[in-house]
Parts: sequence; structure tokens; C-alpha cells
Amino acid sequence: MSDTIFGKIISGDIPSEFLYEDEYCIAINDINPQAPVHVLVIPKQGIPRLVDAGADDQALLGHLMLVAGNIAREQGVGDAFRLVVNNGAGAGQTVFHLHLHVIGGAEFAEGRMAG
Ligand code: 5GP
Repeated sequence: MSDTIFGKIISGDIPSEFLYEDEYCIAINDINPQAPVHVLVIPKQGIPRLVDAGADDQALLGHLMLVAGNIAREQGVGDAFRLVVNNGAGAGQTVFHLHLHVIGGAEFAEGRMAG
């Protein structure tokens, strides 16, 4: 667990609706969605950034990607979605507890989300 907003959501200190939960991760809607579907897949283990993950985390990282794909399918964007991990403040990371953004439901243009 981490002492971030996501750590508090996972522990239940901050109430939040989980779209999905298992032993290893949760999924919640982003509070400030950038597209019609914008879900965060968050491991329960509080790894700050992707680069802080190690070989021991290999299975967890794979699991997060499989969950992200399942969420995208369930949200109706399985054929067109983007998976984003911001690593470090310079790349726009604001919450230092690893998370995957599942973004879809809007037009993609020239490799960027339109609108
Ligand atoms: P980052 O910029 O670190 O890659 O992404 C953090 C994301 O978490 C942002 O898209 C932001 O909108 C979202 N976020 C921040 N605080 C909360 C919160 O309390 N609840 C939820 N559901 N999302 C949050």
C-alpha cells in the first residue's frame, strides 16, 4: 500500500466505487476523464513508478495488462482503446502509485486522442 490517494482508495480510507477488484488490483473511473471511457487499473501493491518495478513484479504487470483489456471489452471499447502509463513528473505522472490508464470511446487521430 502507498500513502497516496490511490493507497487510501485501495484501503477504503477514501470511499470509491470499484469497477473491478481482485487479489492484486482494482479498477476505478478516473475522476477527471479525458475520454468517454477513462478507467484506472491500480495494483494493490504500491509501486511508485513503472521503473520502480522489478523482475519480481513481472506476473503482476502482466496481470494488470490483462485486466486492462478485460475492462476495455466490458466498457465497450475493446476494439479501440489506448493504454497509458505516465512515468515520472516530467511525463505527467501526478500520483506516485503505479496505474494504467485505459482510455477509449473517442476518435483517435494521428496517434493522438481527438477532442
Ligand atoms: P497520472 O497523471 O499520475 O498518470 O494520473 C493520475 C490520474 O488520477 C489522473 O488522471 C487524475 O484525474 C486521477 N485522479 C486523481 N485523484 C483521483 C481520485 O481521487 N479519484 C479518482 N478516481 N481519480 C483520481
